[in-house]
Amino acid sequence: MQFRFSDKSLALQDSLEQFFRAEILPRNREWHAHTSKHGAAPPFLAALKAEARKRGLWNLGLPDLRDDQPGTRLTNLEFAPLAAIMGRLPWAPIVFNCNAPNVPNMEMLQKFGSVDQKRQWLDPLLEGRIWTAFGMTEPDVASSDARNIRTSIRKDGADYVIDGRKWYISGANHPDCKMLLVVGVIDPDASSAAKHSVVIVPMGTPGLEIVRPVPAFGRDREFAAELVLRNVRVPQSNLLGEEGAGFAMGQARLGVARVHHCMRSLGSCDVLIQLMRGRASGRRAFGRPIGEFANVQDMIALSRIELEQARLLVYKTAWLLDEGGAAAARREISMIKVAVARTFSAIADRAVQVLGAMGVSDDTPVSSAYTAARAMRIYDGPDEVHLRTLYRLEPDEVAGDSAHYLLGERGL
Ligand SMILES: Cc1cc2nc3c(=O)[nH]c(=O)nc-3n(C[C@H](O)[C@H](O)[C@H](O)COP(=O)(O)OP(=O)(O)OC[C@H]3O[C@@H](n4cnc5c(N)ncnc54)[C@H](O)[C@@H]3O)c2cc1C
Repeated sequence: MQFRFSDKSLALQDSLEQFFRAEILPRNREWHAHTSKHGAAPPFLAALKAEARKRGLWNLGLPDLRDDQPGTRLTNLEFAPLAAIMGRLPWAPIVFNCNAPNVPNMEMLQKFGSVDQKRQWLDPLLEGRIWTAFGMTEPDVASSDARNIRTSIRKDGADYVIDGRKWYISGANHPDCKMLLVVGVIDPDASSAAKHSVVIVPMGTPGLEIVRPVPAFGRDREFAAELVLRNVRVPQSNLLGEEGAGFAMGQARLGVARVHHCMRSLGSCDVLIQLMRGRASGRRAFGRPIGEFANVQDMIALSRIELEQARLLVYKTAWLLDEGGAAAARREISMIKVAVARTFSAIADRAVQVLGAMGVSDDTPVSSAYTAARAMRIYDGPDEVHLRTLYRLEPDEVAGDSAHYLLGERGL
């Protein structure tokens, strides 16, 4: 693997770091005060987005942009450290138009959208003017196996008619969400990997109803929305890509989503380690700073080791994606999904411990990082599904090798 970052990426890292420290971090308190009171982003977001764009820090996570589309066209490896910087605060990626679920949706539209679909949805997304959501998961079926999805998409004249229930749909309840990509069954008789399609459903289409935000971990903060589609009618021109290609497109989208979530989570882990370190030197117990206790030192040192292991695996995955596309990075994408989510969980758990009651309270980012890390082991595919994939992708042993080694030890 090539470890050196390009000059372009290094310059952008520098610029992003400065912008983050000067313009974003100082506004974190105001962001939380405003969003918890009004349920919407504060007015200063628009000015931050404009400034980020002016400085060339815009659409950084889209390697396949055309020359006439706004953005930097960085490779995945060039983007990885930038995503980690913005990942230090959950809302920071929005400032640079690098946030989920919009970026993976942009990738899907770029790859599979028609000229009209791109004009209507991709262009405003690239400008950061709208939000979109991706509706796959359903409360009534085990959605970690996407072939189970049962929302129906039925042809009726020149239209599709859609019926189903979705939940945990990130961004669907955002005030600027204008469109939902719905995954459903279009051909029940086709093979399980060829029966689904993706259809564009504009928000506000009659029959599409947001039922509720889904509360999570006993917190007010909602992760995502539950929604129903009852007799929702859209023209057949709203089909994304080809009929029956929904499963494959969904998997392609998840690849990008997973890698970006992992990149951003590296930044969250960095913040947690910093918070532990700060608390360890300032807080005294039993006559000394708690950082002088070996167990606290170990927790911080182990967190750093695990984070750097995860970071290198993420960089390797990004590099493989650049070199050979998603197929070349298939194993590593599953590896980082498990490794980063577990590392993030372990570090967040230690941070709660080192900060004591303050780590449990909502006064620091630790408690929300703790729940976010736990959720990460479920979304983008639960750990178990990736572990199973990895087991299956283990290279075949050269015939008889392992038996040879085992028996050889005892001279049998
Ligand atoms: C914060 C958050 C955001 C989300 N955002 C979105 C979104 O924007 N759009 C969207 O469509 N969905 C979204 N999801 C949903 C997410 O993709 C699903 O929760 C995930 O795919 C798992 O599906 P499930 O919840 O139905 O779990 P299930 O499929 O019911 O699985 C439950 C458990 O069964 C076990 N299991 C499943 N398969 C296997 C296996 N092969 N081997 C061993 N054990 C197994 C695992 O322990 C797994 O956790 C989000 C979820 C969360 C938590």
